[in-house]
Amino acid sequence: MRIVLLGPPGAGKGTQAKLIVQKYNIPHISTGDIFRKNIKEMTHLGIKAKEYIDKGQLVPDELTVEIVKDRIKEDDCKNGFLLDGFPRTVAQADALNDVLNSLGTKLDHVININVDENNLIVRLTGRRVCPKCGASFHVAFNPPKVEGICDYCGAEVVQRADDSEETVKNRLSVYYKQTQPLIDYYTKNGLIRNINGEQEINEVFKEICNVLGSDIK
Ligand SMILES: [Zn+2]
Repeated sequence: MRIVLLGPPGAGKGTQAKLIVQKYNIPHISTGDIFRKNIKEMTHLGIKAKEYIDKGQLVPDELTVEIVKDRIKEDDCKNGFLLDGFPRTVAQADALNDVLNSLGTKLDHVININVDENNLIVRLTGRRVCPKCGASFHVAFNPPKVEGICDYCGAEVVQRADDSEETVKNRLSVYYKQTQPLIDYYTKNGLIRNINGEQEINEVFKEICNVLGSDIK
């Protein structure tokens, strides 16, 4: 089962990724994680990637693709994997195709978790965190018992700068601009599986399982 997972910030992608890899017993490949691992272990690719990151530059596609390719060739990916954070562009999707072709395999599903943009804004801007103990809350979905006060330590909860409405809107617009061509690409080749992300976590997962089926390959 070779899967790519797509979804905007706030759609619950991380939660669903955990559930999917557990149920289907495949590794969760997050490009952020494998970059960090390669850099930490000072692999050839890690050292190259670090040069770009240290300069504040984007890691070039070829290098990202090579790092993903290395990871996909590992033993634990024999029965599949869940790719998260890659591909981000059509060029990367093409490269991924080539990599999988060269390994004699192909992608099975592209799971795309959809949530209405206005709902994402509500989800993301409603987050509050406790600066003292790190607890997190949500004004609508998980409010503190006393408004504005941390349940655990009594400190005043705050909104992170990342969660301000302006930043959230900007993040979403960047996401959609970057991802729409990729969604079109995977729609055209018949791999896209649109999932309604506006349901309870378990209902979203059920919908994903229905799409993936129980044939573990
Ligand atoms: Zn607290």
